[in-house]
Amino acid sequence: MNYLHLARDCVRELNPYQSARRLGGSGDVWLNANEYPCGVPWQLQQQHLNRYPSCQPEEVTERYARWTGLAPQQVLVSRGADEGIDLLVRAFCEPGRDKILYCPPTYGMYSVSAQSAGVDCLAVPLLENGQLNLPAIISQLDQVKLVFICSPNNPTGQLINGEDIATLLLACKQRALVVADEAYIEFCPQASLVPWLEQQPGLVILRTLSKAFALAGLRCGFTLAAREIISLLLKIIPPYPIATPVADIAAQALSASGIKAMQQRVAELLVNRQWLADELTRTDIVEQVFPGQANYLLVRFHKAEQVFASLWQQGIIVRNQQQQPGLTGCLRISIGSQAECQRVISALRQLSTEIL
Ligand SMILES: *Cc1c(COP(=O)(O)O)cnc(C)c1O
Repeated sequence: MNYLHLARDCVRELNPYQSARRLGGSGDVWLNANEYPCGVPWQLQQQHLNRYPSCQPEEVTERYARWTGLAPQQVLVSRGADEGIDLLVRAFCEPGRDKILYCPPTYGMYSVSAQSAGVDCLAVPLLENGQLNLPAIISQLDQVKLVFICSPNNPTGQLINGEDIATLLLACKQRALVVADEAYIEFCPQASLVPWLEQQPGLVILRTLSKAFALAGLRCGFTLAAREIISLLLKIIPPYPIATPVADIAAQALSASGIKAMQQRVAELLVNRQWLADELTRTDIVEQVFPGQANYLLVRFHKAEQVFASLWQQGIIVRNQQQQPGLTGCLRISIGSQAECQRVISALRQLSTEIL
């Protein structure tokens, strides 16, 4: 006997997000969560944990604002970008009436957040070229309050055309917010939509310290938007979302030297990405390497299922993307250290001779 019949239908029916950690595996080469391959050492400076933290630690929001050229009132800091997604859904979507729209193959949390709030989802697949299907999106905007666009898109790595996003913003005017998820934008900073915020009150941008800043374990992300939208989200965010040690380290990561170190890591990672892409292209079992702009590559394999399983057995954990629309045969490989990239290539070369 249990009490699950008391639970909300939308929660009982929910398929929870399959995070890399939940999927498990045991290995020594972790390339399935787009994390930075090695830890960066930090020193805690604030020792006063007897007091509650500020809801929005000023040093963190001010430094993020300064870095992005925005006003601090346009910045919200949260437990990862994932909490930003959740706050947007709860603030803008009436359960049972409103909808979110997203474009698979893409990040899984948009639908998980909506479903756990009892909000319906509309999935409008990307075109074969990885871009938005604008006519299909625009014809289905009824009751849609949030349109999630991921650029660079996870898992394809592609940027979404700016012109299409501009068209979408126009179509959504006064009807729906366009939420641009820029979790990987530090790997292609010239493509950021932050400069658009001034002219586009219907644009919301999500950012995170989890990827280029090498701080996935910190759980710290940002929502950038018009002041009124940030104020609205602040009404529903928990009172103390950012623990004092988190604020402490986030402020250090966003100092001038922290940002410089991040840019240095990005430069090194892009070298590894180029090397990995070139070597993959020259590997027989690889059918196609998608041109990625982020810290991972989407790769189509001959016999992808066997490739995934064999890498898994060798302790090389990558992300299977075959269940996503249009991605049969595709695995996503995070860019690791040079040594990890080499491990991947030698394993795949071996597989090319064994199973092809
Ligand atoms: C990793 C990721 C996030 C989540 O970032 P957190 O700040 O760790 O919650 C959001 N969007 C996309 C596309 C991601 O890949």
